[in-house]
Amino acid sequence: MEIKFERFHLQSDLRSPLKEFETISVPTEVRIDPLTKRRSRIITWGLPSQGKFDFSKMAGESKGCFFCPESVLQKTPQFLNEIVPEGRICIGRAVGFPNLNPVGSYGSVVVLCPEHFLHLNQFTPQIYEEGLSVAIEIIQRTMAFDPDTRYWQISQNFLSPGGSTILHPHLQVIGDPIPTNEMEWLLDASSSYSQRNGTLYWSDLIRIEKGLAKRYISHMGNVHWFVSFAPIGFNEVCGSVEGHGTITTVGKEEIASLAKGIVSTLKYYYEKNLNSFNFCIYSISGEAHYQLLLRIISRTPLQPYYLNDWTSFEVLQSELTANIVPEELCRDIRPYFP
Ligand SMILES: [Zn+2]
Repeated sequence: MEIKFERFHLQSDLRSPLKEFETISVPTEVRIDPLTKRRSRIITWGLPSQGKFDFSKMAGESKGCFFCPESVLQKTPQFLNEIVPEGRICIGRAVGFPNLNPVGSYGSVVVLCPEHFLHLNQFTPQIYEEGLSVAIEIIQRTMAFDPDTRYWQISQNFLSPGGSTILHPHLQVIGDPIPTNEMEWLLDASSSYSQRNGTLYWSDLIRIEKGLAKRYISHMGNVHWFVSFAPIGFNEVCGSVEGHGTITTVGKEEIASLAKGIVSTLKYYYEKNLNSFNFCIYSISGEAHYQLLLRIISRTPLQPYYLNDWTSFEVLQSELTANIVPEELCRDIRPYFP
């Protein structure tokens, strides 16, 4: 077994105007992901929170969108007859249909609820159980039509800092016959690890993290929740589903556990005055060395004088930053999980 948690301590010394020009040291930690070997920078300072943003004007002005109940079954696209003869897929209050502006072979949208806007503490496990169930149904029906489409993302972009153009809560479901960069990195590294060690990286990682008890949050059934050693975004929380590489094989219990973990994380974000986030479930079929992974990160909140969190470091150096020490995040978020 060769899971290594490598880190480098960097330090910047300066005379601070905030402390009468005394010399101070500001540490930064560079961590290397044990699987992908990608570097992350853990920054130890943060800007003060501006409090909660008032969404009432924004939500009021944009209400009555294409995803609102009066339009969603009239004005949204329908699937091809060969894939979904009834046009759209509805489970509970969630509605799935093709994306009018797709970015790959099969792009769909799942409107999560009739409410046009929800605060992060208003999302419920039931909302995500229904939304994920629609996403799974879309993937299963599409794969029955086109079995070569093995690489799927179920993701959510919430609010404009997360890249969403529509306020109304929704998921994206995207399937392609080729992997994304991130999927290829995960698959190649997982496969190399298995060849070298004869074991599944994800099982080894979860066993080690459980033992260390510094970044392991909890498990619900066979869904394990933990904070990455080397996060690729702010406040990153991961979930991994033991025994599955694709979401199409998971049962009701696992869907409920995934939904609960997402909602627990969002409640924590809300308490920290965050309001925008991204998550992705990387669902890949036919890969024995891979285990289904969900990643959720917060984005800098929507606020007056909004500050984008992707600087030249992320965009031009491909070096991702996090603004909380992973072990502290784990300690802080644990009470929010069942
Ligand atoms: Zn709406």
